[in-house]
Amino acid sequence: MEIRILGAHNIETKTTGSTCLLIDDILAVDAGALTSSLTIAQQQNLKAVLLTHQHYDHTKDIPVLGMNFFVLKASLEIYTTQQVYDVLTTHLLNNVVFPNWAERPPEKPVFHFNIVEAGKAVSVAGYSVLPVPVNHAVPTVGYEITSFDGKKVFITADTGPGLEDCWKQINPNLIIAEMTMLNDIEGPRKAGHLSPQLLEKELESFREMKGYLPQVVLYHLDPLAEETVKEEIREVEKALSIKIRLGYEGMRIKV
Ligand SMILES: [Zn+2]
Ligand SMILES: [Zn+2]
Repeated sequence: MEIRILGAHNIETKTTGSTCLLIDDILAVDAGALTSSLTIAQQQNLKAVLLTHQHYDHTKDIPVLGMNFFVLKASLEIYTTQQVYDVLTTHLLNNVVFPNWAERPPEKPVFHFNIVEAGKAVSVAGYSVLPVPVNHAVPTVGYEITSFDGKKVFITADTGPGLEDCWKQINPNLIIAEMTMLNDIEGPRKAGHLSPQLLEKELESFREMKGYLPQVVLYHLDPLAEETVKEEIREVEKALSIKIRLGYEGMRIKV
C-alpha cells in the first residue's frame, strides 16, 4: 500500500493544502486538497472517497469534484457517516450553493453515498475499511484501512486525546495522526486536537495496550506553528525512543 499526502495542513495557502490523503492512487481520505492536487485523469482514476467528518477543511473539494465527474459523465462512490451526508446535502450540495450530486443527474447521480457505521468494517475498492470514533468537536471517525496483503494504516482524522477505546479496535502498521496544536496552547482551543505532549500520552497508552508502536506520520499541521512543533516532537521521539515523521504535500509512505 502506498499513501500519498495531498494535503498535510489545516489551512490552505500557495504551498500548503487542506487535509487529504490518497491510497494507491484510487482511494481518497477526506477532500481538502483533492481536486487541486490531481489532474483530471488522476481524478477519473479514483474509485472512492472516505470522509471523516463535516468540517470544511476536510470536505471542501467535494462539490467541485462532483462538477468534474458530472462533466466527465462519470460517477463516484463516497463513504461517510449519516451526519456528514446530512450536513453536506443540507449546506453544500443543497441545490442552492451547488447541485446535489447525490441526486443529479436523476438518471445516474454523480455521487453514490454509502453510509458507514462506527465499528462496522466495509469493503471499499478492494480494501477493508473500519470506521472508528475519535474525539473531536463534532462526531468524527478515523479509518483503519487494510489492504489485500494485510497491511494496515490508521488515519486518526481530527481528534483530541482519550483514544484508548479507539486503540482497542485497531492494529495498524502505520498511524497517520493529526498534530494541530503546540504544547503551550491551553483550554478550549486545544479541545478536539492533539499537541506533541498529548500525542506522547496517547502513544504510550497504545504501546502499553498493544506491546508495540507503529510507524507514525503527522498531518493536519499548522504551517505557522510547524517549526516549533518539530522541536516539540523531538522530545516525544526521545521519550518514546521512536522516529516520528512530519507529513508534507507530495510525501509518499509505503506500508
Ligand atoms: Zn475538524
Ligand atoms: Zn480539520
